[in-house]
Amino acid sequence: DESKPEVIWTVHVEVRLSTKSRRRVDVIQGLVRDFITNNYDPIQLPSVLDGWEVDPTLASSVDRIAVSESACPSISLHLKNVSLEIHAYQPHETDAIEEYANGTPGRDGEENVLAASVCELPCKAWEGLWDGLIYPDNIKLKLLDYIHATFVLSDAGVDFNLVTWNRVVLLHGPPGTGKTSLCRALAQKLSIRLSHRYSQSRLLEINSHSLFSRWFSESGKLVQRLFSNIMEMVEDEDCFVVVLIDEVESLTAARAGAMAGTEPSDGLRVVNALLTQLDKLRYQKNVLVMSTSNLAKAIDSAFVDRADIIQYVDLPPREAIYEILRSSLCEFIQKGILQKTTVPALDLALYLEGNSKNGSIASGTMLPYSPEGLASILLALADKCRAQQLSGRALRRLPVLALARYIGIGVSASSTTSNLNNSRFQTDIRLW
Ligand code: ADP
Repeated sequence: DESKPEVIWTVHVEVRLSTKSRRRVDVIQGLVRDFITNNYDPIQLPSVLDGWEVDPTLASSVDRIAVSESACPSISLHLKNVSLEIHAYQPHETDAIEEYANGTPGRDGEENVLAASVCELPCKAWEGLWDGLIYPDNIKLKLLDYIHATFVLSDAGVDFNLVTWNRVVLLHGPPGTGKTSLCRALAQKLSIRLSHRYSQSRLLEINSHSLFSRWFSESGKLVQRLFSNIMEMVEDEDCFVVVLIDEVESLTAARAGAMAGTEPSDGLRVVNALLTQLDKLRYQKNVLVMSTSNLAKAIDSAFVDRADIIQYVDLPPREAIYEILRSSLCEFIQKGILQKTTVPALDLALYLEGNSKNGSIASGTMLPYSPEGLASILLALADKCRAQQLSGRALRRLPVLALARYIGIGVSASSTTSNLNNSRFQTDIRLW
């Protein structure tokens, strides 16, 4: 339809620079843009690009070029419908972690309480974390879109009296569903996506337990000091700061306790201090507060009220379990622990399953390590894991336990692929 205006989709390309790269970022960005234009039309989302090594400048400066998933209707787009946003970044080494201790050791009985740790982003340790987290319903993309929306509003200078948001996100759900990891991965993602506007990004993780393990009178001071540190950091407008409050219920349960008369009123004062400090932060453009909780019901309602997004993170459904197990297996294969085998992607596995249900492939004719065979074994395992209500954390551990059993019974690791269809492997999985 000629009259229909063409829609242009923003596609984010993440270029990880090698540690030795000394080239100007804009030069690299230009080269990457040319490379994509000449070689990748249509472009696939998400995908990791190759072939750029033939360009000597890229070869010497770049580690990896990846096209991110984007909020667009197709996984394949023609470049004429695409606006490429190229983000080049150089991850910091892991040991950039600096710990924030509050209280001066040995003075007036004050103890050095480890209240928070700070990490420069993007950091090496969290490369790949985002891709490894698998959720249904595009949860990751939704969170990213939300944050993008707040940036658009901030940039436009929207009047806070008319449209209000607090820059607070709350993720809640059962333990081991990746909430903390998702906060870190998001922080990492944002530091890459926002690198053109903030020269620095930091993640400050508040250690809720240690903050509240002290007498409440102490904690009050700790909260004040911690937030004055955060304020100092945020005053640097070139620095984007993500504050992560893990297990936020342990902070705010104090207030509920105070209300019920079981805690000293100091507890109440501390939580109020925290909420007041959070309210001050919302006026800062360059900050985002992320919090997690295993027990949403235990969180102070005044805190919950401040969260713009309250996202429930559930145990993984069958499809996500399949992908988690598949990605673990692929890693084993890639690192040479298992023999080379093709483990079908979820879409193909479901398609093959549909066919075998329709009788298009007689199930008796499936070879054990044909893609069909593997898909059907892994889907059956996914069903069992689902029935056992396994968390993402338990699932990521499963392949280790399965392999350990094989090593334990004297089967060499490289021959384990051929045993994949062996009922013993399935027994292992069932045990867990
Ligand atoms: P939580 O904060 O919800 O208790 P974590 O962030 O500590 O969970 O999760 C621990 C690990 O479990 C993650 O780093 C990841 O390896 C794995 N995991 C959890 N949920 C998922 C998921 N949905 N997809 C992939 N891996 C997951």
